[in-house]
Amino acid sequence: MLIVKKFGGTSVADKERIFNVARRCIEDYKKGNDVVVVLSAMGKQTDVLLAQARDINPNPPKREMDMLLTIGEQTSVALMAMAMDSLGVPAVSLNAFQVAMHTTSNYGNARLKRIDTERIRNELESRKIVIVTGFQGIDKADNYTTLGRGGSDTTAVALAAALKADACEIFTDVDGVYTADPRIVKNARKLDEITYDEMLDLASLGAGVLHNRSVEMAKKYGVPLVVRSSLNFSEGTVVREEVNVEKMLVSGVACDKNTARISVIGLEDQPGVAFKLFNHLAKHNINVDIILQSVGRDGTKDISFTVAEDAVEDAVAILERHKQSSLKCDKIDVEKNVAKVSIVGAGMMSNPGVASKMFEALYDVGVNIKMISTSEIRVTVLIDEAHVEKAMNSVHDKFTLGDL
Ligand code: ADP
Ligand code: ASP
Ligand code: MG
Repeated sequence: MLIVKKFGGTSVADKERIFNVARRCIEDYKKGNDVVVVLSAMGKQTDVLLAQARDINPNPPKREMDMLLTIGEQTSVALMAMAMDSLGVPAVSLNAFQVAMHTTSNYGNARLKRIDTERIRNELESRKIVIVTGFQGIDKADNYTTLGRGGSDTTAVALAAALKADACEIFTDVDGVYTADPRIVKNARKLDEITYDEMLDLASLGAGVLHNRSVEMAKKYGVPLVVRSSLNFSEGTVVREEVNVEKMLVSGVACDKNTARISVIGLEDQPGVAFKLFNHLAKHNINVDIILQSVGRDGTKDISFTVAEDAVEDAVAILERHKQSSLKCDKIDVEKNVAKVSIVGAGMMSNPGVASKMFEALYDVGVNIKMISTSEIRVTVLIDEAHVEKAMNSVHDKFTLGDL
């Protein structure tokens, strides 16, 4: 069997954990399997590097930021290879350049395009454990890129797809995918299985347990995924196309604090205004999420929308540049202390009243809703960030454990 095993930051945070991971991988290797290991940077190393960069330059060039961030993963893979060597097992560490993991040039949020598998296959052939840096890639001009926070999951799934692996295991610091972040919601329950679609929604709406692109890719290439703990041997959660259990009304609750609201006040109430506004942002690759437009009054209207909090400075700068000329608005207002809380579930489609039940749960704990957005299988609300914990717990428990 060819197995891809990915371990996140907490799983390789110190010497003891590195040896723990090394032993788990060696166990599979000794059974005769080909083992490819994908690692994240140790502990909070990526955050430390980000802070170091911002201390030197609050707005560092994106290319240089990626150049810096890649050393986090490079450190962990080299140390892992050393640990395996000390346990008497041949291993080799490879970075994105050595493998050749080709991505777009979108620094900080690059997309994987193609992975060369020759080097990895040769190393496996010579019976080495191959340890690959997660999160990083190279663009066509040989610059380092990174895949966005949490992107090592995507590296692992992409490698599993490229190598046609028999299994792809994502090891983390919780026992699997839960009905909500178990660190926030005390009654959160571990799921034995979940569909790609539901997982994709949860991940896109903030459930950081899997990088959303990793789920997208797993679905596209039919990679069976297992999410499990690196700290114990419990079964974990299987992510796949179809699940055996009965469709649940709501499969999970997610929150995303990396959200900010921008309101553009006093726009002309005319055709083409929304187009101009969002076109300026799209040209700079800024993703817009919930959009709300007020009813026009006295020839003007307001448009509010959310963006990722780390994109808000860029977004506002772009809008300010066009404020006088093409947008002709009065004011641009920003609120950063907001968060999105979402419920997700395929069963929602045929069950009216799910949204109102969610709103009731928020009312129960006195949480005000700032914006609402819905699709067939999800409801998202924007609330004050300070209320996330009570909102999540109340919403989760409203869809009683039986329902979830
Ligand atoms: P890693 O470093 O292993 O990639 P992450 O911190 O990226 O770990 O992801 C694991 C974390 O995801 C958990 O510690 C948990 O707090 C969080 N999380 C958010 N939503 C969920 C969920 N629905 N199920 C499980 N964990 C979740
Ligand atoms: N080290 C990167 C991060 O902290 C990538 C990852 O952990 O998946 O976001
Ligand atoms: Mg992660």
